[in-house]
Amino acid sequence: MIIDKQEELELEEFDDDIRTVEPSYIETEDVQENILRPKYLSDFQGQNELKENLKIYIDAAKKRGEALDHIFLQGPPGLGKTTLASIIANEMGADIKLTSATALDKPKDLVGILTNLSKGSILFIDEIHGLKKSMEETLYVAMEDYKIDWVIGQGPAARTMKIDLEPFTLIGATTRTGAVSKPLENRFGIPVKIDLYSPEELSLIIRRSARILNTDITDDAVMAIARCSRGTPRIANRILRRVRDIAQVKGNGTITREMAGIGLEKLGIDKYGLDKTDREILRVIIEVYNGGPVGLEALAASINDSADTVEVYYEPYLMRQGYLKRTTRGRCVTQKAYEVLGKKDIYADQGFLL
Ligand code: ADP
Repeated sequence: MIIDKQEELELEEFDDDIRTVEPSYIETEDVQENILRPKYLSDFQGQNELKENLKIYIDAAKKRGEALDHIFLQGPPGLGKTTLASIIANEMGADIKLTSATALDKPKDLVGILTNLSKGSILFIDEIHGLKKSMEETLYVAMEDYKIDWVIGQGPAARTMKIDLEPFTLIGATTRTGAVSKPLENRFGIPVKIDLYSPEELSLIIRRSARILNTDITDDAVMAIARCSRGTPRIANRILRRVRDIAQVKGNGTITREMAGIGLEKLGIDKYGLDKTDREILRVIIEVYNGGPVGLEALAASINDSADTVEVYYEPYLMRQGYLKRTTRGRCVTQKAYEVLGKKDIYADQGFLL
């Protein structure tokens, strides 16, 4: 039975507004971050290959007058997944609804959102690996056929309604690609993997942010912050804002290399770009587990943090910098970790050896 999507539904059942988050949520969440958030692809710094590919897909969809294919954004936190989703909506001239799998409690929450999407609009679901099984199946059909099957009633009286949806684009984001089910992953036409940024790419972001914040910054201060930002734009911007405070209070307002050094030290970031938890992780593996291998759960328990945080937030950077490797038997530190942890004066002169 096919019905008009709104006709038979009791709309009050689907409380769309409570759980979806309009782009304005970003303003209340962190006004400063929102000021720095790029709005178009041309403002999005670095990641050139990714931008070129997206531009082609966006231009092609616009030329055909069709909704963009579904996009799967993968990468650690703070690399620009939410930003890219908003940029794609702006470039397409489309509406966007932002939500997160954790906010979608029951299938009707998802159905409520899907049935309210207008033609060509974008639905962004953050941390999509957390989506419940029952909702994944609803999403499969919605993604493939722009339809949903909705069961009304229970037992023998139950009946299924097919609800037509407007063509839409799902942008699913995850920090944990391995935790997304294959059938869901396979339904995204455009997979986009965002890697940690190089110091040069972060330098572009820091310069742009300093310009927006009306702050002068020297070249060596830009590089010092870029090298200590774990390859992550959100961290680069956060450090920049703290260092700007210091330059205003302790200096003449210009962010110099010296001001950056003081700020980084206050934030507990050493001259190798490692923070306190990074060093704790390496220290525990060396001192408690003889350099490894150690399983993720045991490691996380030893530093009083969650396995998820260690895996998603700390490990990618430690591995990229060559301090840690993953083996089939667990995590091991490298020679470089022994060398760096053995050093005294980790903040001394902020020499940035990397
Ligand atoms: P994620 O959703 O991956 O956790 P966000 O999209 O929230 O990350 O990005 C965090 C912040 O980093 C944004 O507010 C934005 O200002 C900044 N940012 C991320 N990527 C870029 C980029 N390529 N160029 C400029 N700023 C960026």
